[in-house]
Amino acid sequence: MPAPTSILYVEDNVDNRLLVTRVLEAEGYQVLGASDGLDGLALAEAHEPDLILMDINLPEIDGYSMTARLKSHPHLAHIPIIALTANVMKGDRERSLAAGCDGYIQKPIDVDQLPRQIEYFLGRRTLN
Ligand code: MN
Repeated sequence: MPAPTSILYVEDNVDNRLLVTRVLEAEGYQVLGASDGLDGLALAEAHEPDLILMDINLPEIDGYSMTARLKSHPHLAHIPIIALTANVMKGDRERSLAAGCDGYIQKPIDVDQLPRQIEYFLGRRTLN
């Protein structure tokens, strides 16, 4: 059996982490959860996940900085990073992309849409 597609979710809000983990595990993904950026970096180095979901508002080091660090990492730069943020002010999408994020999902998370969004960012389907 092939290894399941693995997704690292960096998120300090435990309720969001549990919700997203439950939804994605039900879709057959292996989900790694990290509550801050440095924990996320360590998990990324250890597991090289197929996709990273990155909360932007994180304690200590924010998701923009963590994305820049991951994207300058020789072994991790290829992993798609999707920003997950409640920041809806104009320019936040652009800022996420400028930091190196490959895509952007706005909070609150729509659990009905999330599996399709994940497949899209994994390159497995088109959004409609
Ligand atoms: Mn947060």
